[in-house]
Amino acid sequence: MIERFIRDVPDFPKPGILFKDITPLLQDGPAFARCIEQLLAAVPPSSYDLICGIESRGFLFGAPLALRAGKGFVPIRKPGKLPYKSVSQSYDLEYGTDRIEIHVDAVAKGQRVLIVDDVLATGGTMNAAVKLVRQVGGTVVGTCFLMELSFLNGRQRLSDIAIHSLVKY
Ligand code: AMP
Repeated sequence: MIERFIRDVPDFPKPGILFKDITPLLQDGPAFARCIEQLLAAVPPSSYDLICGIESRGFLFGAPLALRAGKGFVPIRKPGKLPYKSVSQSYDLEYGTDRIEIHVDAVAKGQRVLIVDDVLATGGTMNAAVKLVRQVGGTVVGTCFLMELSFLNGRQRLSDIAIHSLVKY
C-alpha cells in the first residue's frame, strides 16, 4: 500500500541517489493514517516506554506514532538545534557526513526506547541514534522505518538491534 505513495526522485540531493520522497504519503490523509497504524502494529507498544524520532523525517512518523501509542516523544536533532545540555555523535551518510544530538535528560535510566526514522539506507544515522540513546541511559528495544533500502546492507550495521520496516526495496 505505502509503496504507491512513495515517489522516486532520481539524482536528489546528488547525482546517483534515488531519493524516496514521502511527501505524497503525508499529503494523503487516509494513507498517512494507515501508515501510522502499520507502524503501531509492527512493534507492540507494551515493549517500549518512549519513542525517539530522528530529525527531520523521523519526526513526521515518530510523533504521531507516539501519540497513537500513548507514549512520550524525544527528538534527536541536527547539531546546534537543542537548547539544553546535549550529547552528540558523528556518522557517515549515504551522501556525506553529519552529526546528531540528544538532550542529556531526554531518557530516564533504563527506559525502553523505540527509535523511528523514514528510511534505513546504510544504517549510519540509526547506528549513531542508538549510541546516543544508550549514552543517556536508555535501553534500545528496536528501530522502526517506513522503508529499508536492503541493497545498502543497513541491517549489518545494526546487527544487535531489532529492525522493523514496512517496505523493503
Ligand atoms: P543512512 O544513515 O545511510 O541509513 O541514511 C538514512 C538517513 O538518510 C535517513 O534519515 C533518511 O531520511 C535519509 N536517506 C538516505 N538515503 C535516502 C534515500 N535514498 N531517500 C530518502 N532518504 C534517504
